[in-house]
Amino acid sequence: MITIAERLDSAYGRIKQATNKSNRSEQSITLLAVSKTKPISLILDAYEAGHRKFGESYVQESVEKIEKMAHLNDIQWHFIGPIQSNKTKLIAQNFNWVQSIDRLKIAKRLNEQRPSNLKPLNILIQVNISNEASKSGCSIEEVNNLAQSIKTLDNLKLRGLMAIPAKKETVEQQIEDFTMLKTCFEALQTQYKDIDTLSMGMSADLEPAIAAGSTMVRIGTDIFGARS
Ligand SMILES: *Cc1c(COP(=O)(O)O)cnc(C)c1O
Repeated sequence: MITIAERLDSAYGRIKQATNKSNRSEQSITLLAVSKTKPISLILDAYEAGHRKFGESYVQESVEKIEKMAHLNDIQWHFIGPIQSNKTKLIAQNFNWVQSIDRLKIAKRLNEQRPSNLKPLNILIQVNISNEASKSGCSIEEVNNLAQSIKTLDNLKLRGLMAIPAKKETVEQQIEDFTMLKTCFEALQTQYKDIDTLSMGMSADLEPAIAAGSTMVRIGTDIFGARS
């Protein structure tokens, strides 16, 4: 049996190779371990191996896990799934980051519901880079307006962008999509401070994402195994 610690090592190995290839430092990439649908026992294995950043997609499931692991208060939880407005309160109360903001209504609710004893919620705007009807995310054209509005909300801290591009035939096409997002990210950086996170790349496409300038990869399957 391959352990979670070994799988984490091999994910870091892939990141190292990819950063070497594009003359970037390994430290410029944050690894988010995506633990959605996976049991606490596996998250604890990753924790014991030293990992602290986890991504979840389903509100009820994740809040149960977060409550049971509340004594491990150095874990950073990232919400990365679609958000219904009746679930924003639980997200505002339990997470450190939300990567899947694609409309102002949700951002406003999170801002209002963020408990005052917690630090501002770190926010990424999710961009539907390939304009797929089936996917969440705002269009590239909507990013500026949404960013401007989010910047007025005191309990939110805008940190950057996230995307899940469509699968493409070739690596070149994948890099092209990721590069569009990178360009949009750089434009945001020129306008606002604290913009430091470009979340793109998953188990299947972390290499082209890193080549195009990702600063955070979200890896589920390669760390915790396939989801049923
Ligand atoms: C599930 C998920 C991932 C992880 O995908 P893998 O292919 O298992 O690495 C990354 N990002 C988001 C937004 C997800 O929902």
